[in-house]
Formats: sequence, structure tokens, C-alpha cells
Amino acid sequence: MGKTVLIVEDEKAIVEILKFNLQREGYTVLEALDGETGLGLAKDQDPDLILLDVMLPKMNGFDVCRALREAGFAMPILMLTAREEENDKVFGLESGADDYITKPFSMRELLARVKANIRRRSLDTAPPAASASPVLRIQDVTVDPATMAVTKAGKAVDVTQKEYDLLLRLFTEPGKVCTREELLEKVWNYAYFGDTRTVDVAVRRLREKIEDDPGTPKIILTRRGVGYYCAE
Ligand code: CA
Repeated sequence: MGKTVLIVEDEKAIVEILKFNLQREGYTVLEALDGETGLGLAKDQDPDLILLDVMLPKMNGFDVCRALREAGFAMPILMLTAREEENDKVFGLESGADDYITKPFSMRELLARVKANIRRRSLDTAPPAASASPVLRIQDVTVDPATMAVTKAGKAVDVTQKEYDLLLRLFTEPGKVCTREELLEKVWNYAYFGDTRTVDVAVRRLREKIEDDPGTPKIILTRRGVGYYCAE
């Protein structure tokens, strides 16, 4: 079945070129020229992926992203950020985006990222295989690979797609240190350009959700200068 991509971008020329290329790849394309309309369309249509500009009329991309995550939507969100706005990347990830791409972007790279993020999601949401993996538990946190549910002290924890992927990877091999580069490749699903802050931000967000005291984590631990691992 065809996948649907929602483009939220106020520069009509960018919308048109994105739309043309995405449709040529077989995607159904929805478009919104301002943040409010984008948020409404995203909630109504539940697209498979959202390309979200940062600077938008009525409601900026960060707020749209945050509102969607707060409403429980877990679809991949790729932020379109301006190259000179370094802080936008981190801020975007903190607001719940899965990934960002800087403008001006190469269409080939953008299409590859759209595909990677959608593929990742459909793999993860596929029905569990006959030999479903058991529920993983570290202290009072559980991850259920069959249902993608995360709980802490018996209560459901809302996590985004990437946060879930990251947690699952760490929980699968407790005690094993994963480098930031390894996590970027395995969780974000493509060779990145060495921006390991993506991992740091995702870990920080996860800690806020599952640690008793995010400042002194007991579940997701840091191996200084190397990467992250989870407690055994
Ligand atoms: Ca804009």
C-alpha cells in the first residue's frame, strides 16, 4: 500500500519540488503551508511521515512536533532546518523530531531518509513473528518487543519511535557499551555525518522518562568518551 507523506512548509517552491519527487517515488503527498493547518492535517490523516519546516506562519515546527507527540502520535518526523541554525537541530530533536535535514538539501539524500524512516517504522510495527521476543526488563522498566510498549513501575511510558528503537537496542544486550556512532547507524538507520548529539539528546529525553533521577541515571549509563550502555 502506498505511504503518505505530509509536507509542512511555507515556501511554495520547496513544497512543489518535494511533492513532485515524492509522488514520483510512489508516495501520496499531503501539504500544508502553515503550522496550524499542518498540525490539523497530521491529526486527521495520520500520515506515515512528516517533513516539517521550522520557521512557519501561525505555529512553528517545534510546537507542531511537540503537540503531535503530546497527543500520542509516533510517526517519524523529519525537521527541515536552516544550515546556519545549529541550535535548531538539537531543539528539534528535543521537541520530539526523529531526524533533521539541513537546507539546502540534496533531493537524493532527503528521499533516502524518508525511505529509511518509513521502512524502519513499518518493520517495527509489523506483527510479531511466531517466536516473539520476551519482555525485556531492567530494574522497574520493561520493553515489550511484541507490542512496543514501555513501562516504568507498571505504568505506560510514552516514547517516540527512535526512543523505543534506542531503548530496545540497549536493553537487548545489557552491559554492552554501544558507541554513539554505532547507535546512529543502527537506530537512525543510515550512515550519519558524525553528528552524535542526536544520540545524546535522545538519551537525555529517554532518561527523563524512565529514570527516577535523570541527573544520576541508574538504567541508561554513560561510558565517558565512548557511548552508552544499560545496567545489567
Ligand atoms: Ca519556512
